[in-house]
Amino acid sequence: MSTPRRYWLLVGILVAFVLGVLFGFILTIAIPEAPARSDINAWLKAFGDIFVRLIRIVIPMLIFFTISAATSSIANARKLGIILLWMLILYIGTSLLAAFWGLIGGLIFQPGTATQLAPPAGYTPPKPPSGIDILLSFFQTDFNALLAVGGSVSMIIFAIILGVAVVLFMGENGRIVARFLELGSELSISVVRVIMYYAPIAVFCYSAWLISQYGPQMLQAYASFLLVQYGFSIFHLIIVYSIIVAIGGLNPITYFKYQITPFIIAFTTRSSAVVLPYNMEAAKKMGVQDEVFKITLPIGATVNMDGTALYQALSAVFIAQLFGVTLTPAQYGLVLFAALIGSIGTAAIPGGGTVMLAFVLSTLGLPIEGVGIMWVIDAFADAMRTAINVSGDNACTILVSRIIGYKLVKPEEQ
Ligand code: ASP
Repeated sequence: MSTPRRYWLLVGILVAFVLGVLFGFILTIAIPEAPARSDINAWLKAFGDIFVRLIRIVIPMLIFFTISAATSSIANARKLGIILLWMLILYIGTSLLAAFWGLIGGLIFQPGTATQLAPPAGYTPPKPPSGIDILLSFFQTDFNALLAVGGSVSMIIFAIILGVAVVLFMGENGRIVARFLELGSELSISVVRVIMYYAPIAVFCYSAWLISQYGPQMLQAYASFLLVQYGFSIFHLIIVYSIIVAIGGLNPITYFKYQITPFIIAFTTRSSAVVLPYNMEAAKKMGVQDEVFKITLPIGATVNMDGTALYQALSAVFIAQLFGVTLTPAQYGLVLFAALIGSIGTAAIPGGGTVMLAFVLSTLGLPIEGVGIMWVIDAFADAMRTAINVSGDNACTILVSRIIGYKLVKPEEQ
């Protein structure tokens, strides 16, 4: 993609975000009674929802082709195993650390003691999934179920199995299949890019809707939660990722220079899935070999969500404080574990992390109504957690690349 086109997309999304927020405020001033705005709000949200639906449609195709193409392109099964092993160690380690920041952020700053909240009227909490449900959701019952957004982890596992089958058992024909998968991967990334032309409209409508629907109330009541979430997320981004990429042999300044574009796209679109092509582009510019990032980034987009783990741990503490529940030290450990599993199971779409919060809260025996409470500020919380999620994928990718013995090579030198 040419630089000017990407530049315009980025500017378009940012301008749409600012204009949407302004438009939302103008709406609340021009039509002060909330019920009188409900029709406009419904239309604004619908135009935003179109974007999310398009993303949901492309996700199975994107995951399947990017991961099966990458797996089938690695002729050496041992090398693939090592990449996957180190990738998992780093993904799990950084997500646990992020959940730890969320936990201590909640305990030190106590954002939930500042106010008492009730869930929005008419809210019915979703049924929380059990531990067994979560485990089995990684292995769906049939192929159809893989195509649902909730089947993403199963789709990853299937795509890896298919890629390994191509390498191990298809001999010469395997090359033809691998080429087909590679073209499919290119095609799905191109489809995402076409959908991104709609992103500025969606971002405008969503941000206007959010302010018009929740603005004034949200700004005061939830400010302390967002302050703690944003503070610790930025700490994780700047300190932890700088250390990781420095150990990986890359100057942190270079990492941030190339990571800023995926960061902004993630912040405004709130979907790790749509950021994948931009994250891959950034990894290439940072000098990571195709062989590594084509495996680690698609999987990371789906399972590695540091921002979400931090948010879910912090939310659990926040909800406990709101309802006056005191957590025991053993439950603190459970917060970390639940946030880790919750973030792995979260779909890479807007709001995915708050849907999965139901699992975290129910694991801790906290009121499930907390999900309704967190929905109110979800777009703001989601913007930061998605931006952290995608940045973490690239930071870990750089270190994986170093550990398995690759040098970072700038695209022009490859
Ligand atoms: N929106 C996030 C993402 O796509 C997931 C979440 O809601 O936490 O990475």
